[in-house]
Amino acid sequence: AIELRGVSKRFGSVQVLNRVDLDVHRGKAVVLIGPSGSGKTTLLRCMNFLEEFEEGEIRIDGEPLGYSDDGTRRRRPEREIARQRAALGMVFQSFNLFPHMTVLANVTVGPVRIKGLPRSEAEAVARELLDRVGLGHKLDAYPGQLSGGQQQRVAIARALAMKPKAMLFDEVTSALDPELVGEVLAVMRQLAESGMTMVIVTHEMAFARDAADQVVFMSGGSIVEAGPPDQLFHAPQTERLQAFLRHFR
Ligand code: ATP
Repeated sequence: AIELRGVSKRFGSVQVLNRVDLDVHRGKAVVLIGPSGSGKTTLLRCMNFLEEFEEGEIRIDGEPLGYSDDGTRRRRPEREIARQRAALGMVFQSFNLFPHMTVLANVTVGPVRIKGLPRSEAEAVARELLDRVGLGHKLDAYPGQLSGGQQQRVAIARALAMKPKAMLFDEVTSALDPELVGEVLAVMRQLAESGMTMVIVTHEMAFARDAADQVVFMSGGSIVEAGPPDQLFHAPQTERLQAFLRHFR
């Protein structure tokens, strides 16, 4: 589980996150929605300590993330932060694959170099994952030979190969041509159904509606409403969420 308590963050004088509390339970898919600039990406990046935060606490399966447990807020040694980061798979809007490596090598390199898995074992895992995302026939291709949707599915397989406790998705379909969005969302939907713990920032409201266990609406750095998709989309309580949803009608 991922637990956030009172997480606040500023960029200079701008308060980007304002005392955010959130629980992501094991096996659940939480989708973050909200207007541009509301802090969704920043919140997701805090969950992987890609952003530091001045106040509050994030715990991953009970262990405080990034800062020591003794109440001093001392930053953990980099080695510990790396270990904590590795427990969460992250997929970005830009696919960030290694261009000079084949698809299979992209998915194998992390487990071999970081986890010390034997290459044959890492390749077996990679083949299975690439099969799962529908790319079992592209093992020897290079990223530049693939469509954006295919590259993003490789990026998902690469993150999964590290056997993370949870997966974080940051607007992973925003850079894709519209006709390629569906294949990536289908993989994510499948992953959610398989019981992966997921936090997803997206502007795809239809996906949020049918793949999320919980939808979280952010505005101005705060969580304004949160609940099951039925409740949020069909009975929004606040004027801010009602106004936001009108853009998608
Ligand atoms: P979008 O949907 O457009 O991606 P978002 O809800 O994900 O928006 P964030 O990207 O988290 O919002 O940004 C929240 C606020 O923080 C914005 O006002 C943004 O300009 C600001 N911000 C984000 N990153 C930085 C940074 N590195 N330095 C300064 N300000 C930043």
